[in-house]
Amino acid sequence: MAATTTRFTLPLMAAAMLQFAPLAPPAQAGAPQVRSQAPGYYRMMLGDFEITVLSDGTHAFPIDTVMNNITPAQIGRGLDDAGLAQPLQGSINAFLINTGSRLILVDAGAGALYGDCCGKLLEHLRAAGYKPEQVDTVLLTHLHKDHAGGVMRQGAAAFPNAVLRMAQGEAHYWLSASAQAAAPEFLRSFFDSARAAVAPYQAAGRFQPYAAFGQLEPGVRALPAPGHTPGHAAYLVESRGRQLLVWGDIVHVAPLQFPHPEATVKYDSDAADAQRQRRALLDMAASQRMVVGAAHIAFPGLGRIGAPGGASPGYRWLPVNYEGAPGAD
Ligand SMILES: [Zn+2]
Repeated sequence: MAATTTRFTLPLMAAAMLQFAPLAPPAQAGAPQVRSQAPGYYRMMLGDFEITVLSDGTHAFPIDTVMNNITPAQIGRGLDDAGLAQPLQGSINAFLINTGSRLILVDAGAGALYGDCCGKLLEHLRAAGYKPEQVDTVLLTHLHKDHAGGVMRQGAAAFPNAVLRMAQGEAHYWLSASAQAAAPEFLRSFFDSARAAVAPYQAAGRFQPYAAFGQLEPGVRALPAPGHTPGHAAYLVESRGRQLLVWGDIVHVAPLQFPHPEATVKYDSDAADAQRQRRALLDMAASQRMVVGAAHIAFPGLGRIGAPGGASPGYRWLPVNYEGAPGAD
């Protein structure tokens, strides 16, 4: 009878088939690798302020040709201790601050000046839910290409309603023909880039360098941090007692300059001042438990500073903990 036959033969057939079954399920052949990241933005709350870090991209940082006051052995050891090797990708990060009434962007990435690696800030700003037209103020830490290039897009202001601000001394230096003539050859094109970046804002009457450091916006203060460039500034953002120090180019390569804060880069306009400022801001951020927003530490470049002591002879970078739904901290 059919029912009886089925009952006894199916288990036997299944057992026989199992002997020939593959151990893993068959692969879906040839799914192409995608090789890109999610849109580069990262959000955190700082008191009442919403902070959105915007990645402009990453690029190969030429450690051997750029870093000074550090030995090849120290470079090798520092990278090895961090599980890294050359060529090392360096991040370019910018920081969007929504105070609730003002939208402030600190630094703007490289724009078109670094090639295809970078210039992704506007795309990531839109992905983060904002429009360039909404930005009220762009504050620059300094006028190097990878911070200022992104204020311009195809010769026009990338942030058409924003006021562009940086320290007066910074603007004075990079817009000066005599400073350009006196600068080392490798820096000459930086002056042309700085001039081009600010031009649309000058033409529109929205180029407003500040003569005095201190409070620029509610909850945002400019601090002098000269050395990397003559008018380099850091921005201290504060809401409900929480502090974020957006420090620009105080540290370029975290695994080297935290253990060796004396290490400088050839782009520093005054290496001794750059060393002094790095130590001062590291100590300030460590002692006051500030969150640091770093332009070139691995995206999102948000962390606190561990001071030297105990088992650690050097400073340490303590990345913020990822939060899926940033709430009030
Ligand atoms: Zn720089």
